[in-house]
Amino acid sequence: MDKRFRVVVVGGGYAGALAAARLGRNAAMEVTLIAAGGQLVHRVRLYRELSLRPDGRLAFPLQPLVGPRVRVVDAWATSVDVDARRVQTSQGALPYDALLVATGSVGRAVPDELAATDSAPTVVEATHASLAELRRQLPELSARCGRVVIAGGGTTAVELAGTLGHDWPRLRVTMISPQAPLASAGPTASSTVLKRLQRLGVTWQCGRVAESIEQGVRLTEGDTLEADVLVWATGMESRAASVLANALPIPCRGDGRVAVLATLQLPDRPEVFVVGDAAAVQGQSGCLPMGCKVAMPMAAHAADAIVAMRSGRQPEAFAYVDPGSVVAVGGSWALTMSGADEGVPALTVGSRAVGLVKWLLCWYVVASIRLQATGWFWYRWRRRPLAPVREPGLAAAVDDDRRVHQ
Ligand SMILES: Cc1cc2nc3c(=O)[nH]c(=O)nc-3n(C[C@H](O)[C@H](O)[C@H](O)COP(=O)(O)OP(=O)(O)OC[C@H]3O[C@@H](n4cnc5c(N)ncnc54)[C@H](O)[C@@H]3O)c2cc1C
Repeated sequence: MDKRFRVVVVGGGYAGALAAARLGRNAAMEVTLIAAGGQLVHRVRLYRELSLRPDGRLAFPLQPLVGPRVRVVDAWATSVDVDARRVQTSQGALPYDALLVATGSVGRAVPDELAATDSAPTVVEATHASLAELRRQLPELSARCGRVVIAGGGTTAVELAGTLGHDWPRLRVTMISPQAPLASAGPTASSTVLKRLQRLGVTWQCGRVAESIEQGVRLTEGDTLEADVLVWATGMESRAASVLANALPIPCRGDGRVAVLATLQLPDRPEVFVVGDAAAVQGQSGCLPMGCKVAMPMAAHAADAIVAMRSGRQPEAFAYVDPGSVVAVGGSWALTMSGADEGVPALTVGSRAVGLVKWLLCWYVVASIRLQATGWFWYRWRRRPLAPVREPGLAAAVDDDRRVHQ
């Protein structure tokens, strides 16, 4: 009888969980999911952690999610020996025939100078644990009309600001970022979201946090903002290097993402795939963004590519169409943005109905992993070939010459 093909998946986020659940459906695969904490943190709904009435779960145990055919190991992967094809974990070593790295991302770290400060304001990162701790302080902070400053102008910062403004109207909330909120999504999205935030009493200041935050948040422009809490939501960084750093010199972008081939494989290591926020793939107009909407298609694609390899077929290039974004901005209101695509103009709509769409999408993300595992459902996404890629080289996703060395 044929030996089963050993696949090790590192990281139990959306990408790792979906890939494991999809591979687990194949009887020829022996799938092990290494997931620190043993839970899937529902990051796309993390802003609800700060709401007055938390609704729905923000973390799900992985074993029931990915099904009994996948072995979930609650451990940290610490390194990979690519020659011996072995992953070292905090629970011991695991051999593999194919490896799928889905270690995701973390919020950009708070600079040491800010983290070390004992005096007000307290600095909070946009993680599950830190936001839960901030939530505990909110009733008291709200009672004394405290001031929260949010550093960042992207989706995470906007969703957190919107939740605070809507659910805690006594708080004084200010966002600071070098550009207007959601500036990268275009002027219409930016002005729509600014109007909504203003209606919720959230103010915005153009600026960057200077090194010192004693007695308030000092901006590079010289002003100091009074603050009780500074929430740090200035972007995300990939965690791929934490596990792959010792493996090879791998081409990395400035944000730590590994530039993979168009097939999502590592150059010269066809048995190693990198997906989700850990990977950088060139799209039609630049590198695809970090996001659940990209991470899950990548994961499903890599799972199918591993099955193809096992059957002696060549993995295909990853194909993807951006479905647009939905950003929740307080209460049940949300903003949807679709990019201009094949002659269809970009669309920006903000309303409560869009809020319902956001809720349904968040539910679908988790349900699709569970259903994929049960056999009732096959996860699909809209596909179109990405930008012409330089074969057999990298997917042109390296935007600097940084390399991770031994
Ligand atoms: C507040 C917030 C809101 C967001 N909203 C949206 C949105 O509306 N739409 C959207 O598309 N995207 C959104 N995103 C981005 C989205 O959450 C990420 O793109 C997505 O989580 C990426 O999935 P992933 O599986 O690649 O990584 P992750 O979700 O980061 O999961 C990686 C997992 O791997 C684990 N891990 C890491 N290293 C190791 C290791 N060495 N050993 C074992 N385990 C390890 C981590 O603990 C984690 O559980 C949001 C992000 C945040 C923070």
